Amino acid sequence: MAAYPNPQREGCPDISKLRAMAYRDRRYRSAELPIAHVVNCSPCFKQYLGFRRRLLVVKTAQVTAVCIAVLFALFGGFRFVQDRNVQRVAPTVAQNAPHRPGAAEPRKNSPVPIQVDLAEYSPVRGDEANSAPAKIHLPAKSLRISFLLPVGMEPAQYMVRVLDSTGKAVVEKSATARLADGVASFAIDLNFDGAMSGTEWSLLIRGPGLSWRKYPIMVD
Ligand SMILES: [Zn+2]
Repeated sequence: MAAYPNPQREGCPDISKLRAMAYRDRRYRSAELPIAHVVNCSPCFKQYLGFRRRLLVVKTAQVTAVCIAVLFALFGGFRFVQDRNVQRVAPTVAQNAPHRPGAAEPRKNSPVPIQVDLAEYSPVRGDEANSAPAKIHLPAKSLRISFLLPVGMEPAQYMVRVLDSTGKAVVEKSATARLADGVASFAIDLNFDGAMSGTEWSLLIRGPGLSWRKYPIMVD
């Protein structure tokens, strides 16, 4: 380049021509471009190289951008395929899950649902040994009993105790009474399966701040 100094830029073409040459602008025929001048003029050749370098940087940036876009597209597509596979595979796995014997059939000892309206029964208080109150008659089965509570027993946490015919507590648990159709009720599972028919059991219920209420149960 130093071999062709041209400090006065004599006979130098317009800078737009140099750029057109560097960018291989197709609007110019090669005959119109100052190719012969550039190779013999150091300043023009420097400018030409500058344009070439700038173009290379732009092209590299473009190529990089395209590569990133392609990578994102591939990765996104991969993820999409993965998600689809997961969606497709999941139910297949569920279908092929080993069938546990008896899982689908109703359990032999599943409790029988039954409803007991305690408003129909009067509880026995400890000091009341008067007339025999009506007993709650229950079958000798495994039961899921919904106890409908009488007026005055609000939705709350209740303590429930069941005494067998010998007076032994066989159930002692808390139950949450909820309001349904204006009536507070709770359900508990009581297993009278195998209980001797004609035996008298006791149901004891205590609400918050209340004393125990005892209801006699007759197993039929
Ligand atoms: Zn020149």
